[in-house]
Amino acid sequence: MKKSAADLLMERRLKFLGPDVSTFYEEPVHLVRGEGVWVWDAEGRRYLDCYNNVPHVGHCHPEVVAAICKQASTLNTHTRYLHEGVLNYIEALSKTFDESLATVIMTCTGSEANDIALRMAQSVTGKTGVIATDHTYHGNTTVVSQLSTTNPPIGGTPSNVRHVPAPDSYRPLGGNAQAHAKEFSKHVENKIIELEEAGFGFSAIILCPYFANEGFPDLPLGFLDEALKAVNRAGGLIIADEVQPGFGRLGSHMWGHQRIAFKPDIVTLGKPMANGHPVAGVVTSVDIMSDFRKSFRYFNTFGGNPVSCAAALATLQVLQNEKLMENAQKVGLYAREGLEKLQQKFDVIGDVRGAGLFFGAELVLDRETKEPATEFANRVANEMRQRGVLLSKLGIHYNTLKIRPPMPFSIQNADLMLETLGAVLADIPLQP
Ligand code: PMP
Repeated sequence: MKKSAADLLMERRLKFLGPDVSTFYEEPVHLVRGEGVWVWDAEGRRYLDCYNNVPHVGHCHPEVVAAICKQASTLNTHTRYLHEGVLNYIEALSKTFDESLATVIMTCTGSEANDIALRMAQSVTGKTGVIATDHTYHGNTTVVSQLSTTNPPIGGTPSNVRHVPAPDSYRPLGGNAQAHAKEFSKHVENKIIELEEAGFGFSAIILCPYFANEGFPDLPLGFLDEALKAVNRAGGLIIADEVQPGFGRLGSHMWGHQRIAFKPDIVTLGKPMANGHPVAGVVTSVDIMSDFRKSFRYFNTFGGNPVSCAAALATLQVLQNEKLMENAQKVGLYAREGLEKLQQKFDVIGDVRGAGLFFGAELVLDRETKEPATEFANRVANEMRQRGVLLSKLGIHYNTLKIRPPMPFSIQNADLMLETLGAVLADIPLQP
């Protein structure tokens, strides 16, 4: 039998990329073109993109493409030469933060940004102890990957890294919302003591203010107050990893930490920052930046280059000019209500959560026991792909549908996603 184009590509991937390079979906998608919230495969089939936050202002947005082309055909160098590009971008970006967060290091990936953030905390505190949640992902440098419990490091988690349970609003620690915050804080306080007693001292807590990889629990305003007060009391720094919730995705605020109302010392950015061009960054105060610069000689060949900064500035301008954060608020609310209607119809939807254009539904086999429908969620994502809607799943039990489309996602797009999901939930059996 003749091999399909997709089979041939899979063979070439194995040959040139090596084994175990993951793809989405049982039948991987071979994308060749994108525009707005749509992508097309090699056969000309169109898919609604409900997953990708990197093409933040829409796939191949013409203003971002034009900015990249213009700068790429003029000059591309690095930050050891003077250039307006990096300064113009940081000036525009810093207006979106509290005024104390006024300086930025530009990097190429979120992993690098988090790596720097941890080193900043070391340079300020002189300590090395770090606290993270037990179901997080902050990237893939050696140091940052050691924070992962889902892919634990060889040799085990280093003893200067301690984990606290990821918040889970559907199964809250202590049984209810109020106890949940208290319990979370208690865990943080205990880990600080452990780090101090072990001689590492406490340098920082790193967390995603939306707990995105943890399944975006619905947390009340101020949920983190008590825990972060304990961090401040112990002299540790607060690192907000905004790689996923940032740049207006949550609809109500530009940044996840603003939405849940806390003041980070360091903020890391990435994914959506330049609409697909590899741009990330670390935002902090002048004081922390100068401590870092005293302790570490840092230079990043590609970070802050003029082409990347042109892409990032154009992305930010489109986001603001096209009022895409406001769109995220409006369409996100509509889509969540649509999911809640589906929840009334399908028992398998145990919980509907999210904010702005980052929302989803937690699927369970039984609403009483809340037993995760992990395998079913996987089949739902695959069937949605077959029907032309791209989404995924995540969370502590990998049973939460993850819907996080490009920001120009419209009410009509939400309707198509909801109709397709309703049909899939009606058609596929709970057990295979
Ligand atoms: N932080 C978070 C919360 C992330 O989700 C990711 C990537 N998924 C990263 C950091 C790492 O970013 P990058 O892949 O750009 O290194």
